[in-house]
Amino acid sequence: MAARKVIRMGHPTLRKVAALVEIHEIGTPEFQELLVDLYDTMKVEGGIGIAAPQINISKQVTLIELPANSERYGTLESSPLFTIINPVLSVKDSSLQGFWEGCLSVPGLRGFVERPRMIHIDYINELGEKKEIVVDDFLATVFQHELDHLFGKLYIDRITDISKLSYLEEFAEFNGAKKEDSLDE
Ligand code: ZN
Repeated sequence: MAARKVIRMGHPTLRKVAALVEIHEIGTPEFQELLVDLYDTMKVEGGIGIAAPQINISKQVTLIELPANSERYGTLESSPLFTIINPVLSVKDSSLQGFWEGCLSVPGLRGFVERPRMIHIDYINELGEKKEIVVDDFLATVFQHELDHLFGKLYIDRITDISKLSYLEEFAEFNGAKKEDSLDE
């Protein structure tokens, strides 16, 4: 395991547009090591997604994996591990859905964010292959949260009602939202 340090809000790397990954770079040992380290960091931190800028690598790479049978996300769908490189997003259904979001780079907080409910993404996978995917519901929110990290955005930028930003303890005590409606990325 080679989990790396997760940088937090206030670090300038989180506010930069990350660099596109060169295709020839994907097969190199250094890049594959980055993917392993990202995965290990995501697991150690208990996230369901992580983006390279969160470990201070300003490249357009993010991993997403909704675990099956986790206590925390137990009633939500699980997903395979997605390695998303150089994504291009388009909205398929702009009607909004809201989830309580959290972020490894904004620890201790939850905020309610509304995002389009269905999106299409063109991307490159870990083998350097061109892929596309359409995701909806919770997974669409997870993808949008992660992709935002590649373009210098944090979920707190997307909160339209700032009264719906809460510390975790107060969220648990007062919000009454089901725990499966929140996520950490
Ligand atoms: Zn995040």
